[in-house]
Amino acid sequence: MFSLMANCCSWFKRWREPVRKVTLVMVGLDNAGKTATAKGIQGEYPEDVAPTVGFSKIDLRQGKFEVTIFDLGGGKRIRGIWKNYYAESYGVIFVVDSSDEERMEETKETMSEVLRHPRISGKPILVLANKQDKEGALGEADVIECLSLEKLVNEHKCLCQIEPCSAVLGYGKKIDKSIKKGLYWLLHIIARDFDALNERIQRDTTEQRALEEQEKRERAERVRKLREEREQREREQAELNGTSSLAELDSEPIIVNPFQPIASVILENERKLEKDKKRHSMEKDSDGCPPKHKTENEQIETQSQISDNSQKNNELGIVENYKEALTQQLENEDDTDQRSSESDNSKKKTKKLRIKRSHRVEPVNTDDSAPKSPTPPPPPPPVGWGTPKVTRLPKLEPLGETRHNAWYTFLCTWLMASKQKIHDELE
Ligand code: GDP
Repeated sequence: MFSLMANCCSWFKRWREPVRKVTLVMVGLDNAGKTATAKGIQGEYPEDVAPTVGFSKIDLRQGKFEVTIFDLGGGKRIRGIWKNYYAESYGVIFVVDSSDEERMEETKETMSEVLRHPRISGKPILVLANKQDKEGALGEADVIECLSLEKLVNEHKCLCQIEPCSAVLGYGKKIDKSIKKGLYWLLHIIARDFDALNERIQRDTTEQRALEEQEKRERAERVRKLREEREQREREQAELNGTSSLAELDSEPIIVNPFQPIASVILENERKLEKDKKRHSMEKDSDGCPPKHKTENEQIETQSQISDNSQKNNELGIVENYKEALTQQLENEDDTDQRSSESDNSKKKTKKLRIKRSHRVEPVNTDDSAPKSPTPPPPPPPVGWGTPKVTRLPKLEPLGETRHNAWYTFLCTWLMASKQKIHDELE
């Protein structure tokens, strides 16, 4: 009755225990069967596994333990990383290839190195004498002897359990019972000394992190110094190159970049146009033209500017203005012409003019000036159309060209006035 109550109490106590996170490292020489064992524990088929490069991690739940196992690669060159996992490990699983007698010495040295490490000494170690299914594999006692296991574990105060097993015999629930037994033993020892182990692990991990931080800083400092040295060298090199290239540049002629920004090109062109305009007007001033003509030119220029500004819409207005301005001049010219050219060939020229007029040069207000009589008017008297101005007719530009509106209007007005005059005279 008393023992029943004691069992109940211990069961209740275990039931109330919190879930404990435990980390284990699985080490051993390469090809010992570490990955196969880890896979078998995890419940995966353990055969045809690839040798571990670096490490792999497996998580499993075992009773009140959340177990993480780091399966670390066993190659000679990779063994150096094992120590990075010692601080956080609660125990060690050391896998031995029992069938490989030739490597027993190497295995012994490697195990000695592991147990000697200050962050492992004193922690529990499970030795799996693997590949027992293989012919000629060493038994438990032989492995203990080959590895001088008793001596080693006593030296480093490590609790030790050895389990002869075969990782490929089964996996998951059917895993080799020896592996299962060994794992239970290890977790049991860890649970028993959990507080002490946990305290040590916390301390060791804190120290290791501090050490890692310091190493990191030192590494960064080394890198920084190297970079500074390199930059200094580059600066010196650049200075040397810079002075030599400057000297080269001085001796070379300066070539203006042919690709200028469009804004500056436009500005430059506008300036040039402005200059040309000024020069043009200065030349006009110094030509010594009669003041009347000058005024006419100015008028025309001003008028053409106005017409430029109003963009063709004021064409009719401009015609009217020109009409007034030029009528005087035309009258004078016509009087002179009439007096000087009363000859026979004037008929011919008038005909020519009539033909041209009917084709193109009809002024805007044709109705006012065109003879309304259905009968053709009698041949007009000579009015002196032999002046070179008539030959300008073909040079007329389209109305769209505002710059030539002055000429066009001038001629239109002139023709209109002449026509009117002829008409008046005939009457
Ligand atoms: P690791 O390098 O220590 O991870 O070794 P692996 O787990 O990769 O195993 C290496 C080889 O040994 C693989 O071909 C496995 O199939 C084989 N192997 C692992 N354990 C056993 C075993 O118990 N018996 C036999 N016969 N072969 C095994």
